[in-house]
Amino acid sequence: MVVRYQIACVLCLAWTSVFSQFEKNYIPSPVQDTIPAAIYQALQTKLTLDKSRVTEPKGQVNAYLKELYTKRTDLVIEQFNNDYFIVDDNLSPYLQSILENIYTANPSLPRETKVYAFRSDAVNAMSYGEGTIAFTLGLLSRMETEAQIAYVLCHELAHYHSHHSDIKMAKFAKLNYDKELKRQVKAIAKSEYGQYTKFSQLMRSLDISITRHSREKEFEADSIALLYYLNTAYDTHAPVRTLEILDSADISLYRKNLDLKKYFDFTNYRFKEQWLSYIPSTTWHASDSDNDSLHTHPSCARRIIALQRQLKSQKPKDTQHVKHNAMRTRSEFEQAASAFHFKSFGKTLFKSMILAEHYPDNAYAHALIGQSLYQLYLHQKNHELGKVLALPDPRFDENYDRVLTFLHTLRLMELGSLAYHYTATKKETFSTSEDFIYAWWLSSHTEVSQDDPARIKSEYIARFPSGKYIAMMH
Ligand SMILES: [Zn+2]
Repeated sequence: MVVRYQIACVLCLAWTSVFSQFEKNYIPSPVQDTIPAAIYQALQTKLTLDKSRVTEPKGQVNAYLKELYTKRTDLVIEQFNNDYFIVDDNLSPYLQSILENIYTANPSLPRETKVYAFRSDAVNAMSYGEGTIAFTLGLLSRMETEAQIAYVLCHELAHYHSHHSDIKMAKFAKLNYDKELKRQVKAIAKSEYGQYTKFSQLMRSLDISITRHSREKEFEADSIALLYYLNTAYDTHAPVRTLEILDSADISLYRKNLDLKKYFDFTNYRFKEQWLSYIPSTTWHASDSDNDSLHTHPSCARRIIALQRQLKSQKPKDTQHVKHNAMRTRSEFEQAASAFHFKSFGKTLFKSMILAEHYPDNAYAHALIGQSLYQLYLHQKNHELGKVLALPDPRFDENYDRVLTFLHTLRLMELGSLAYHYTATKKETFSTSEDFIYAWWLSSHTEVSQDDPARIKSEYIARFPSGKYIAMMH
């Protein structure tokens, strides 16, 4: 009884501290716009080192392989410049510290990798093969313990230190200059090499992802990962649990339908019941190549069996599970912030409403609701709604699909009215949040507004003399 009480209490304390941290507000991680100079330099230094290690006997193959290495580094730089990698004081350093723990426990491995949180809600991790590892926000919000994160990193390290990407590139480079092989390959239309017409396709076929990968290397990576992992102090249950989580990644964490009426019914502007009409679309609108919300995870059942076999001879290690609740919540807020940054406003609205469900007093969540409603209004007004609002798709989770359907049902005036009334009715509650006051200022530009934007602006400046939105208020 006593023991049980203590456990309950520890959990309760952890929850309280996480809750209080996110109860009132959230400050999103900075967006860099361009790759930080130090990171760029480090990537170039590593590229030079990688190129110096190329020892193909054929000159042409040698040169081509070096060119492929450059393209691989260029891809990483491009993704930094496109704001996918998060360079902040929280998420990425936390992941890096777990990576350091693994290296400390495996001193024979050269410390050649860096890990960053990655702005995507796909449940995935990727090793680019040149030393950069990406850990998506979607995966981070699924991980229950630090040990699970450690196992994912061990898996990506296994790909890197076994040179899976390098080997595949070398194979490709050799093939490219082998006339006889080329002829053979052309004859086999369905051969995987037949698809290697573009570099992007090559990259996709490399083992750069924990969920999308060539089958041949996956079991090998899992098995090497486990060897690295067992050298650490982390518990022996996490590896199998991690694969179970990946296996169920297509099942959303929040399946309850949002109560739209609760959010969008105002004394001066009533909710209309017809907004709720919902018939799932019969057309698949989303393309699966670039859509994070689709269900695309292959089964991990066979990988789990293989891991369990390898673990059989191991003595179970019940190390205290290090929870990572704060980082998990942070990655959920960051997913909403990222959806907004990438101008996916239907997704922003959905994600910030879920945040508001759990943190009803969080000003940032409500500010994102207000700001994304205004952006949807503005884009519909400019006939650009299609650019920022996904079409419903029966493959999405029903709660998300319902929100998309609702947003497509609204007319311009209705969108404007919701944006305005949502912010105007909450402006006192969230008056200390500059994100929220900015949302109110934006919404005061709609035709239905009864507030003067100029007055809101001077109020904003008085309260936040060096506010981040001043430059945008004109
Ligand atoms: Zn993998």
